[in-house]
Amino acid sequence: MLQKGRAETLGEFAALLSPRAGIQIEGLAQCSQYIAQKHYGKTIRLFAPLYLSNECINTCQYCGFSRNNPIPRVTLPVETVFQETQLLAQQGFRSLLLVSGEHPKYVANGYVEECVRECLKVMPSINLELAPMETEPYIPLVKAGSEMLVVYQETYHQPTYQKMHIAGPKKNYKWRMDTMERGYKADFRRLGIGVLLGLYDWRYEAISLAAHAQYLLKHCWRSQISISLPRLRPAAGAFQPEQQYGVSDRAFVQLICALRMFLPHISVVLSTREAPELRNALVPLGITHMSAGASTEPGGYSSYNTETWKQTKNQPGEQFHIADERPPIEVANMIRSLGYEPVWKDFDQSLATEESVSKK
Ligand code: SF4
Repeated sequence: MLQKGRAETLGEFAALLSPRAGIQIEGLAQCSQYIAQKHYGKTIRLFAPLYLSNECINTCQYCGFSRNNPIPRVTLPVETVFQETQLLAQQGFRSLLLVSGEHPKYVANGYVEECVRECLKVMPSINLELAPMETEPYIPLVKAGSEMLVVYQETYHQPTYQKMHIAGPKKNYKWRMDTMERGYKADFRRLGIGVLLGLYDWRYEAISLAAHAQYLLKHCWRSQISISLPRLRPAAGAFQPEQQYGVSDRAFVQLICALRMFLPHISVVLSTREAPELRNALVPLGITHMSAGASTEPGGYSSYNTETWKQTKNQPGEQFHIADERPPIEVANMIRSLGYEPVWKDFDQSLATEESVSKK
């Protein structure tokens, strides 16, 4: 595969993940870099997560928001969501991911829809990472202007999935798996899937994730597909991941390069869960989107110093603690220093209007 510079089948993708291919990591990196530049140019899109709520009815062993964890719980009033959005807009962001724990109380009452409309006043691109829903409740969210739906399967290994999700609706593996197709029917322009690396064997997860992406490319072809590969971070609760499933930096790089060689058109997202040095090194290697300056606590940005973009107090209600604490401007400068262009605005609603006109 290194000779032809790409993987054409799932079997070839699996071979790129093998220990044998791992020995040739420099070759993989070169192929990945070439493909990424060919399809995306020398650009990295920046976005920020904005946590709406840390209330959750699920018990997921690995998550700080898990319902039994004694953390302060809050669902932000819409006005606070808008204020936080303004703070992020002042930092340069034009693309936002609204994130929430899974709680039925704000699914049906129009809360998220209102948040989307408010955020769009100062932020042109709004994406959503929410509890899986039926198609019907997604429709008003798309109509309100949100463009992307993100739901990670967390692990594709069903026995591990059952072990990790011990209470709440998230126990239903298949319901979660089918979410993207329900979102597609509601007309989300982009669909985001992912695994939480560290729960099970990373090669198994990677092959399953790639197969899922392939399926979506075929069946949800009007939407862009995006992949995230978060690695486990320390969080509230007593969860200790099994050591054997840890993913080294080297394996992580191998996985990103292999994905780029197998699925050249998909977006690959890198979060602030990774340390600054690794994030810097990954810029040229095939990722397309990066979060920056992130808080994982609802309302967390309000306590940031707006000059330095540092936390001024602890964030006891955060989902996990990030590893890259650099302010957004510093991340953008790092990207520029590597010869890449940081792109703040991923998409503009006016383009969506043009797209929908041309589809008719
Ligand atoms: S992973 Fe999601 S569903 Fe599970 S506890 Fe955390 S916020 Fe709730």
